[in-house]
Amino acid sequence: MHTVIGHPEATEALSLSEVERIKADFEILEHQVNGTDLVYLDSGATSQKPRCVYEAEQHYYENANSAVHRGAHSLAVEATDIFEQARETVAKFIGARSNELVWTSNATEALNLISYSMSNASLGRGGDEAQRFRLGAGDEILVTELEHHANLIPWQELAFRTGATLRYVPVDEQGALRYEMLDELINSRTKLVAFTHVSNVLGTITDVARFVSAAKAVGALTVLDGCQSVPHMPIDVKSLDVDFMAFSGHKMLGPTGIGALYGRAELLDAMPPFLTGGSMITVVDMEHAEFLPSPQRFEAGTQRVAQAHGLATAASYLDEVGMDRIASWEEHLGAMLFEGLSNIEGVRVFGPSDIARIGTVPFEVIGVHPHDVGQYLDSRGIAVRVGHHCAQPLHRALGVSATTRASTYLYNTEQDITALIEAVASVREYFG
Ligand code: PLP
Repeated sequence: MHTVIGHPEATEALSLSEVERIKADFEILEHQVNGTDLVYLDSGATSQKPRCVYEAEQHYYENANSAVHRGAHSLAVEATDIFEQARETVAKFIGARSNELVWTSNATEALNLISYSMSNASLGRGGDEAQRFRLGAGDEILVTELEHHANLIPWQELAFRTGATLRYVPVDEQGALRYEMLDELINSRTKLVAFTHVSNVLGTITDVARFVSAAKAVGALTVLDGCQSVPHMPIDVKSLDVDFMAFSGHKMLGPTGIGALYGRAELLDAMPPFLTGGSMITVVDMEHAEFLPSPQRFEAGTQRVAQAHGLATAASYLDEVGMDRIASWEEHLGAMLFEGLSNIEGVRVFGPSDIARIGTVPFEVIGVHPHDVGQYLDSRGIAVRVGHHCAQPLHRALGVSATTRASTYLYNTEQDITALIEAVASVREYFG
């Protein structure tokens, strides 16, 4: 069967010299681990950061640090400008307007924000405008068996709190989504469809249009988990046509502690808030409060300005390299990984070979526990992830409790892939 790897619209890849130049921007990649050069193949968990990102944060703290939106003094104005400029940059990076981008700590918080806001609506908050967000007994939420726990448990909890029913699109034994079941699973009771754009385990890319058209046909809201797509391929939320999308900064060269929720402006303005407190209100008396429009209504409390600035710097860095070219480079590395690992005797590579994927490849060395594989690779300076990758149901469907996952990014070289393949080829011999 033909192996399709990478984003379908990917174009010309990065050149070898460009990748070397990019790699030089990442100080940590010059490190030695256990006496050998670090080979970092765990970007699916978190990416490394180029110097410009932490320098931007440092520059902010040295020159503009202040609480935003509140002070009349010059530093507060400057910090607010930096904060809002960052919002504009990151919103533009995904094809959104700035009032459609809410800062959160990470994707997990962004997904919980929707879940808790819908709970509040279901309790009657938000008036008539919040009707679309109300759930109760008889309503259904649809997810998939591919999901990271961050895009599963918030919906389990929402179902628990509201009495709605959670249903899911299963995967086949290869881990491919069973799209043919969508028509049966999405019906007039479906109020929300939450699904991942790219599987964090298999790297496979979901057919978003198929989910969106089925959801739209019944008036259900759509929530896309963009955690593994926003860092690796060009994203335009308007052409994806989803209602919400969550993503994390730390997976796309940005700092930890910052992520974002995209939502259509008219939906965000109608949705009751999740966190409440300072900076998200217009008028407060002792009995009640009026809330600001989006995005401020979802940004209670003192904000993460340095992190937003760092994330905007990361987005500009990615933009400058070119997301289409990054996708192509990772397509190339992913193909090397998939084929190289598949050709090793005693190694099983997971995931369908006929679905487009990013440079993320899970595998098992038969007879050796993934944790032992991970430790052996670490002894050779190679960082990969082992375990269930926060996707226990998917692993169960694949018939294993854990896998070893190699995941690439723009700074990985062909030598990194070769080093991994050579090391994996010697695992069984090492463990006898
Ligand atoms: N969704 C997917 C697909 C992920 O890969 C991850 C992180 O691994 C998350 C959600 C959660 O991201 P975070 O831990 O940054 O909130």
